[in-house]
Amino acid sequence: MAARKRVAVVGVGTMGSQAAWRLASRGAEVVGYDRFAPGHDRSAAGGETRVFRSAHFEDSRYVPLLRHADALWQRLQEETGRELRRLTGCLLMGPAEHHQMRTTLESVAEHDLDHEILDADALAKRFPQFRIEDGDMAVFDHRAGFVRPELTVLTAARRAEELGAHIHRYTPVREIAPSGGGVAVRTDAGSERFDAAVVTVGPWVNDLLPGLPWGVDIRRVINAWFVPVNDNWSGPESPGFIRTAPTHCYGLPSPDGVSVKLGLSQALHLPVDDPNRLDRTVRPEELEIFAELIGRYLPDLHPHPVRVSVFMEGYTDSSRPLIGPLPGAESVILAAGFSGHGFKLSPAFGDIAADIALERSSPQPIDFLSTVGRTDS
Ligand SMILES: Cc1cc2nc3c(=O)[nH]c(=O)nc-3n(C[C@H](O)[C@H](O)[C@H](O)COP(=O)(O)OP(=O)(O)OC[C@H]3O[C@@H](n4cnc5c(N)ncnc54)[C@H](O)[C@@H]3O)c2cc1C
Repeated sequence: MAARKRVAVVGVGTMGSQAAWRLASRGAEVVGYDRFAPGHDRSAAGGETRVFRSAHFEDSRYVPLLRHADALWQRLQEETGRELRRLTGCLLMGPAEHHQMRTTLESVAEHDLDHEILDADALAKRFPQFRIEDGDMAVFDHRAGFVRPELTVLTAARRAEELGAHIHRYTPVREIAPSGGGVAVRTDAGSERFDAAVVTVGPWVNDLLPGLPWGVDIRRVINAWFVPVNDNWSGPESPGFIRTAPTHCYGLPSPDGVSVKLGLSQALHLPVDDPNRLDRTVRPEELEIFAELIGRYLPDLHPHPVRVSVFMEGYTDSSRPLIGPLPGAESVILAAGFSGHGFKLSPAFGDIAADIALERSSPQPIDFLSTVGRTDS
């Protein structure tokens, strides 16, 4: 019988909690480390909801990975009995000629995804909370909705622990170094040796692994919550939405039915110089863009938020995440740069990181995301 592999998971956040679950499910001896505790909101995860969708407006190569993630979302829910995802549908709206609308249409046609195309009249009858403009279209993705970030990270980490993983909370990893065919992980308590390490430290990637050959730009991301002024947003069927242009934005009704969370595109996020010193104060002028969007496209929301939160995310130039071994260190598997769209795919990325840590490769179609031979970011 092959020896049981010892694998470290460094950063038990969105991707790390899923990697820990997948590794522990496959019988690996898993030791996780997080600078806080899984489920915290001081990094990329938090804020109650994240959009889940089946159609992909960035690149239809994500669709098979979304299918894999979809199956694992169901499995994690079944194994734990927790409702991590709710499928309420998602509307993608924007100018019909916009490349993201075209990619979406290609993606639904190529992969035969369950969807509807709505014109302005159909949209107004069915979803009066949204307004579109001349030349716009709306695509309703049926197998879409929201996932719950804090609950998901905590649930995946707890499931990993039930399966035998050991997670060190409030334990920042200071250094990861190849060591005799494996890897040494150093914390303030000393160094431990593993067969492999999955590194999923999100916005801290450049701090822990300085000199990476790819750029990961860390940005400060604001979410704001707005209260509807009438009943148009109420009801369990109120879908999430994404608007592609002129300002890329998205929104999700809160699970408690009280408010609607809005977020903006990467272009509007300020850089983060030091992830240990994230500025979590939101200035009134940073909220003006939300009020403008509400006035133009979401007229049933009161334009002043009842809540704001600040997070961080790592973006690559191409928006394609980086997954795979570090050059010259085959036992260190990096998963970083999820560029604002990683959460929905997190069970798949965790599973792929587990594949690479245990088998050195993954059967999933990730060539376009792989670190192997990648020169761009
Ligand atoms: C506001 C916002 C909205 C988003 N909306 C969506 C959406 O609607 N749909 C979607 O699919 N995606 C969305 N995303 C993207 C998604 O949330 C991220 O891609 C994903 O959470 C990134 O996961 P991660 O594991 O890389 O980082 P994180 O979840 O931040 O995990 C990193 C972990 O590493 C730990 N850590 C850091 N350094 C160390 C260290 N040295 N030692 C030990 N532990 C360490 C941190 O404490 C943290 O727990 C959104 C992102 C943001 C910020």
